[in-house]
Amino acid sequence: MIMVDDLYDVLVIGGGVNGAGIARDAAGRGLKTLLVEGRDLASSTSSASTKIIHGGLRYLEYFEFRLVREALREREVLLKSAPHIMWPLEFILPHDKHLRPAWFIRIGLFFYDNLAKRIFLPASKTVSFKNTVYGKPLRDRLKKGFSYADGWVEDSRLVVMNVIDAKEKGADILPYTACVALKQDGDIWEAELKDTLNARPQIVRAKTVVNAAGPWVSTFLHGVARQNKEHHHVKLVKGSHIIVSKLYQGEHAYILQHHDKRIVFTIPYEGNYTLIGTTDVAFEGDPSHVQIEEDEILYLCDVVNEYFKRQLTPRDVVSHYSGVRPLLDDGAENASAVTRDYKLDWSQNEGQPPLLSIYGGKITTHRKLSEQAVDRLCEVLGRDASLPWTKQSVLPGGDFESKDKLYEQVKSVYPWLHKNMLERWITAYGTRLYTIIGAAKVIKDLGQHFGEHVYQAEIDYMVREEFARSTEDILWRRSKLGLHLSDKTKQAIADYMKHVRV
Ligand SMILES: Cc1cc2nc3c(=O)[nH]c(=O)nc-3n(C[C@H](O)[C@H](O)[C@H](O)COP(=O)(O)OP(=O)(O)OC[C@H]3O[C@@H](n4cnc5c(N)ncnc54)[C@H](O)[C@@H]3O)c2cc1C
Repeated sequence: MIMVDDLYDVLVIGGGVNGAGIARDAAGRGLKTLLVEGRDLASSTSSASTKIIHGGLRYLEYFEFRLVREALREREVLLKSAPHIMWPLEFILPHDKHLRPAWFIRIGLFFYDNLAKRIFLPASKTVSFKNTVYGKPLRDRLKKGFSYADGWVEDSRLVVMNVIDAKEKGADILPYTACVALKQDGDIWEAELKDTLNARPQIVRAKTVVNAAGPWVSTFLHGVARQNKEHHHVKLVKGSHIIVSKLYQGEHAYILQHHDKRIVFTIPYEGNYTLIGTTDVAFEGDPSHVQIEEDEILYLCDVVNEYFKRQLTPRDVVSHYSGVRPLLDDGAENASAVTRDYKLDWSQNEGQPPLLSIYGGKITTHRKLSEQAVDRLCEVLGRDASLPWTKQSVLPGGDFESKDKLYEQVKSVYPWLHKNMLERWITAYGTRLYTIIGAAKVIKDLGQHFGEHVYQAEIDYMVREEFARSTEDILWRRSKLGLHLSDKTKQAIADYMKHVRV
């Protein structure tokens, strides 16, 4: 067993969006921080979301004004911070006479427009479907609807951007490293870590621990930290998405109401596809084994078929994914009605060092949640002078004015970069693409070509700078290349990864 000499101010358990955001904020305030993630970064809930940065129009029906206001404010803060991986997205809500009445939707949108200040997102409006791109793919009975704006986010890349920034601000990052035991040693925590790739154990010490284990928040508390009380609980609710070939032209998303009062989104995805989701199914069991069920696929196809002329069957599903929401249990029976708000809780036993547990939270609110968590850590660590800093900050690669301008700048210096590759790199890495290019003067300098414009320099970058360890990390979380590449190219990357040493 290796004993690490360093004493950390904060040990963060969990490399999802909340753990990553907390590690980044803490490191930026000068706290000596270690983040451990049992598998790949964002390998759980934080890569399985609908990927929208939103206030949550439907939460207004449950009078969640605090959450909606905070999330609406965060929309603009986040969109500014990482324009490569997040961008505004127009949502069209078709009006269907049998469902929520128009006056009711208008009131909801009025609140949505006005609960928080909007700087660059437009206000909602009524739209006609007659002879418009909005109406074209929809069934003839649908004549009009409403338009409003939220944001799109590459969820797993958002996590990685946070972790890169945490590292650059001094945090230590250990992916594929689980915390398997947590013991008190006087007024500090002693944590036993296990490298899940080669089973090497080590001990680290920390003054405070943050339990950002998402769906495993209670498992960690009782099974690893041996705590005997818990003030809050999570309700695990599965949500699944399906991906089909592009359902319609245009860059807008649809928000579809269903008879059961739930809503389902259809969102343009990865150029040639449409993302459809989600479901809400109460979940029991191990969240790492979550899978889509046949009836969820049928449900999602049915909702789409109610609205679109093109009729879907399960055979149209090209890909799918599922995740488990770790929702703050507020006693609601119906899975859709459980609050999407969050709570931070000191959950250590009497006389133990601080242990902060995170219950609930959304991708959209991760920055604000992290700020509040680190405020509390600073308080117990006696670092009152440390000020919040993330609101005005930019995430790695997000320091550019517009994608078009960045494209022109890069193209003028590196005319040999293929158009598709450059567009993809700008959307994934922003200005960090210069690190991938490095000293390359011609395309051959990017190293081995695996096929379809994927070069060794990019894979090396994901391993070296973005903590990717496996082919799956590369194809499905650092990128969505898994959806686009041929089997031959994927195999070439997998063969290369067998020889990569970290
Ligand atoms: C279907 C679905 C759709 C959603 N859509 C949206 C959306 O559109 N917009 C939005 O804002 N939010 C959305 N959400 C919510 C959002 O995805 C989650 O709230 C968020 O990802 C939770 O992040 P987390 O960091 O708390 O948990 P996770 O991402 O699950 O991270 C927890 C991590 O802790 C690790 N871990 C657990 N135990 C240990 C241990 N002992 N040692 C080390 N590591 C450990 C796990 O491996 C895991 O990676 C959606 C969620 C789902 C499921």
